[in-house]
Amino acid sequence: MPILQVKDVTKVYEGKVTNRALNQLSFDVEQGEFLAVMGPSGSGKSTLLNLISTIDRPTSGEIIFNDMKPQSLSPNELAYFRRRELGFVFQDFNLLPMLTVEENIILPLTLDQKPVEMMEERLKNLAKRLDLTSYLHKRPNEISGGQAQKVAIARALIHEPTIILADEPTGNLDSNNSREVLELLSKINEEKRATIIMVTHDPIAASFCDRVLFIKDGEFFNEIHRDDRRQTF
Ligand code: ADP
Ligand code: ADP
Repeated sequence: MPILQVKDVTKVYEGKVTNRALNQLSFDVEQGEFLAVMGPSGSGKSTLLNLISTIDRPTSGEIIFNDMKPQSLSPNELAYFRRRELGFVFQDFNLLPMLTVEENIILPLTLDQKPVEMMEERLKNLAKRLDLTSYLHKRPNEISGGQAQKVAIARALIHEPTIILADEPTGNLDSNNSREVLELLSKINEEKRATIIMVTHDPIAASFCDRVLFIKDGEFFNEIHRDDRRQTF
């Protein structure tokens, strides 16, 4: 069974003009898949990510996680679901400047009041795996963009989420740092069978994925699978 089902999802923003951002979009994501979503500006990528991340609700249609419908949860249950099941990586890293790298990474666990031993254990493992040990005590303004994005990925992983949602994770990185971040996401995807859904404009970023879903005007446009990928990119 797919880990995520997007079923006939429509999102209409009501305003002075009515704006249909997504129109009956359907697709499944399998457990362990590394999926890229691409499309021109205004095609509905951010809207889709906001719906999958349960920050916003579809106008019609449903999004189902492992049989469970977040739309049916109470606000408290939803907040808990989001923290436990989802990890977020953003274009601009979203690290808190007054905290050290280490404090930023464990913040999600601190907020959940997890035991200190558990935090230290997970931090140690992640720092080793992602090669962050040498700058754990620095602050975000003392590290490079590539390092900052690796820290943000560590923060997204500390909860051991089921799905990682990445919004243009290489959007602010040069090509070397982009490559490093993408290799890291691939490694996490392969080693931990973590499911990753990444919105990107970057064809190189998309070439690291198992599948690329193209949307246009809020609708399914095309799809490329890993087997065809090497020829396409
Ligand atoms: P993308 O991320 O692919 O650039 P978006 O999901 O941001 O696309 O936008 C899809 C369409 O929905 C665009 O026409 C955009 O202007 C519109 N839109 C997005 N968010 C809102 C909003 N909060 N209110 C009204 N219209 C919106
Ligand atoms: P990006 O494509 O770089 O993610 P967008 O410009 O699509 O950025 O959207 C940035 C934010 O602004 C999103 O949260 C989106 O929902 C919101 N937004 C986009 N278009 C509109 C709009 N027409 N009205 C209100 N909010 C919008």
